[in-house]
Amino acid sequence: MKHRLFPVVFFILLVLSGCLSAPPSGGGPAAEEGPAVRQFFAMDTLMSVSVYGPQGEAAVQEAWEVLTGLDRLLSRTSPDSEISALNAHAGDGSWVPLSPETAELLSFARQTAEDLPGAFDCTIAPVMDAWGFGGEDRHVPDAAALSARLALVDSGRLSLDLEAPAGRLEVPGMAVDLGAAAKGYAAGLAAQAVLEAGGESALLDLGRNITVLGEGPSGPSWRVAVKDPQDMERHLGVLSMRDQTASTSGGYERYFEENGVRYHHIIDPKTGYPAESGLLSVTVVSENPALADVLSTALFVAGRDEALSLWRSRTDFELVLCGADGVVTVTEGLEFDFRGEDNGYTCQTARR
Ligand code: AMP
Ligand code: MG
Repeated sequence: MKHRLFPVVFFILLVLSGCLSAPPSGGGPAAEEGPAVRQFFAMDTLMSVSVYGPQGEAAVQEAWEVLTGLDRLLSRTSPDSEISALNAHAGDGSWVPLSPETAELLSFARQTAEDLPGAFDCTIAPVMDAWGFGGEDRHVPDAAALSARLALVDSGRLSLDLEAPAGRLEVPGMAVDLGAAAKGYAAGLAAQAVLEAGGESALLDLGRNITVLGEGPSGPSWRVAVKDPQDMERHLGVLSMRDQTASTSGGYERYFEENGVRYHHIIDPKTGYPAESGLLSVTVVSENPALADVLSTALFVAGRDEALSLWRSRTDFELVLCGADGVVTVTEGLEFDFRGEDNGYTCQTARR
């Protein structure tokens, strides 16, 4: 499915997919021509890749190949994927051959768990299954069953041989779920493919992971909306971005209700229950798409104080944190690149 759409249609598509870009009005690269666009379903989400410039069609094709290829390797639900093979052999002692990409992503996810213990773990799959996330039958699990599943969550027991490359889960019943990391990692490789194909200006919308390259259609930067986690029809504000990714995690994305209580899909690996850190959503802006994705999930679990203290210790990402207390905290690197909307939140700037 490949289209050349008029700019106005493109604008509507971006708004619908959660990403707001100013309508082209001259200025940006080949804005009058419109981008090459492809929309497709991969990694459990609707993806959209748009590339401006003469190489747009070729670049979109390359990005699509990268994204659908990674989906085939990393999916936990497709029985033929490398992750399914790794999970199927958990505890039987055999090394499962992996592509360099799968091995690299697993290694990055394992490192994230080491850096942010208690907030992130890609071996969370048994707990996700206990809650029925990923299937139709979502329910609050029995406490004993949950604690048995939680005992299997330990990415320290995911062994990797990066030379081979190959992987091994050391305990029967362990399983990997890369839902918190795969889209960001994939965005990085797809962006690289777009640039190598000669794409000049691009937007990759991979379901709450928005990566922009080069100039926007109407000026030097892209405008990307951050949704209000309490009202999908509204925005917290608009980011001005260039050659960056904005990744957002929030409990509002996927949840079910039981006996009047809402249970969402981002799990606190310390308890096995949906994280309750006082945050409603976390948006991470970074030049590193894989980092943006893992951190948005991990910092949603960790909460505002820990998120800000990690931010103060590094320089490779910025944050928009929306709290249940009605406070939106924006880190100072975004002071001039995030325009909050008048929507009842108190906005504060965090400084180093
Ligand atoms: P995201 O939308 O990037 O925040 O990722 C959420 C997905 O990551 C969930 O649907 C699960 O597949 C997985 N997940 C949930 N909790 C965690 C966690 N604490 N650490 C790593 N992955 C998680
Ligand atoms: Mg994530």
